Amino acid sequence: MGTNLGSIAENLRQVRHRIDRACTECNRSPQHVTLLAVSKTCPADAVRAAVAAGQRAFGENYVQEALVKIEALTDVRAQLEWHLIGPLQSNKTRVVAEAFDWVHTVDRLKIAERLAAQRPENLPPLNICLQVNVDGEASKSGVSFDDLPALARAVAILPGLRLRGLMSIPEPVDGMAAQRAPHRRLREAFMALREQQGLALDTLSMGMSADLEAAVLEGATLVRVGSAIFGARSQAASRL
Ligand SMILES: *Cc1c(COP(=O)(O)O)cnc(C)c1O
Repeated sequence: MGTNLGSIAENLRQVRHRIDRACTECNRSPQHVTLLAVSKTCPADAVRAAVAAGQRAFGENYVQEALVKIEALTDVRAQLEWHLIGPLQSNKTRVVAEAFDWVHTVDRLKIAERLAAQRPENLPPLNICLQVNVDGEASKSGVSFDDLPALARAVAILPGLRLRGLMSIPEPVDGMAAQRAPHRRLREAFMALREQQGLALDTLSMGMSADLEAAVLEGATLVRVGSAIFGARSQAASRL
């Protein structure tokens, strides 16, 4: 991991500047775009450096790794939001329901039902995004556009959870038009759920270091940015 702690504050400034510029281009308020700092593979010290620079929301992919960092930052827990953005297996739902504030990768009802049953009653509802397979490849995770409305209706009524919106991880592509296309499909599905199903969704989790501008132009309310803040991950780590 090539994290240079000294560059994190400056990298955060640059990423916020990219978000601001994209918002200006489409007349959106930057206040409506949350920056989620993706700290997977980074040490707790790197997260602490980002906290010192004002960052509050962090995304993690691997449950075990995240729990170590959440524990290491217990002293600032109340200020932070921890988002799970990696795949979630049913044997990990209990610790996730206990330790995280958000889960972005729910794509089947069984996982949502377990999170709902296991969310401790003394905590506020767990915020949920449904992961959508925007590229339509059978091998990828995420619910299909066809199955999305039924899943959303079912998750929305579970106790202990608050369905906030949709998330996607499109195939990396070059060029603004190609980057915008899958983000537009996700936004259209999001609008349809709000208008046709009457669901009070407010979160579109899309866009990463390479395509955050395309995502903001298509209405992202949360961008998930890792390498542009914490530096490039090693090959081995980015395949995890
Ligand atoms: C790693 C990851 C990111 C951040 O990717 P970068 O290209 O490093 O910005 C965002 N979302 C998910 C789901 C990820 O796994």
